[in-house]
Amino acid sequence: MSIERAAAALRAGDLVVFPTETVYGLGADAANSLAIARIYQAKGRPRFNPLITHISNLDEALKHAVLHEKAIALAETFWPGPLTLVATRHRDSTVAELACAGLSTVALRAPSHPLARALIAAFGGPVAAPSANRSGRVSPTTIGHAREELGDAAALLIDGDPCEHGLESTIVAVNAAGEATLLRPGAITRAAIETVTGGLAVPVPGSVEAPGMLASHYAPRARLRLNAEAPRGGEAYLAFGAEAPVGGLSLSLTGDLVEAAANLYAHLRALDAAGAETIAVAPIPSHGLGEAIDDRLARAAAPR
Ligand code: AMP
Ligand code: MG
Repeated sequence: MSIERAAAALRAGDLVVFPTETVYGLGADAANSLAIARIYQAKGRPRFNPLITHISNLDEALKHAVLHEKAIALAETFWPGPLTLVATRHRDSTVAELACAGLSTVALRAPSHPLARALIAAFGGPVAAPSANRSGRVSPTTIGHAREELGDAAALLIDGDPCEHGLESTIVAVNAAGEATLLRPGAITRAAIETVTGGLAVPVPGSVEAPGMLASHYAPRARLRLNAEAPRGGEAYLAFGAEAPVGGLSLSLTGDLVEAAANLYAHLRALDAAGAETIAVAPIPSHGLGEAIDDRLARAAAPR
């Protein structure tokens, strides 16, 4: 059965195209940072932007996010369905930091499409999935579009009808104080959201962690020195394509950019936690995923 095969592909760290009621998604095991890196590589984005993680219901969502009662009310009203909730990531969440692009928040949605639900149930864990299109192109609403866009990147495509909504999910952030902010208009109208929240804040720069804002992403305490061919005295070295000297780490021994992306956040954290004052980072090639890695490193290195 293709759902079982698709779940097995997710378990193996491969990508699966699947239909949802909004648009077709390119799914991966949300807990596997290597699989998440493959999504970014397939989409060809110049930056890591946070992905929506798909879960089966509110109980599952509560394992991954700290939800204010207003967020719970939204979930109870609109799930399963085209509403994505952004909230503080639960400390015990298994969702990879790369799927959240280093933000302290996580975006969660319980889709209503029967095939999406069957896949999540068969896999048994959270499935990270952006729209199944290459970066900068429109979201696919038919299996034909999805195959054209990303057929090569997926181990398997689940064939479904054209998407019911054909429009992305509405994204609402609910912070710890219960303030709801509309981050993206979508298949559920603002008015429908407001019947539950009583009002919606307008996004103010800085009020919600938005992708691409330096201050909101995880930034190491240590200073970063980029494009360092070798560490200087006292620096911890983050190597690429080679082994690191003692006290350092290598993003990828073989110079594999997908592996490097998958290791980036965990390695920065580990070197930071080890107390390095400065982390010297090897030059990263600027092609493919290297562009997103460089973007992330440049943000982490910016003066604060
Ligand atoms: P897509 O899956 O292609 O529809 O894109 C996902 C959208 O969700 C993007 O616009 C992201 O910026 C947004 N998103 C995902 N996670 C977060 C988050 N933690 N905070 C704010 N926006 C998010
Ligand atoms: Mg998209």
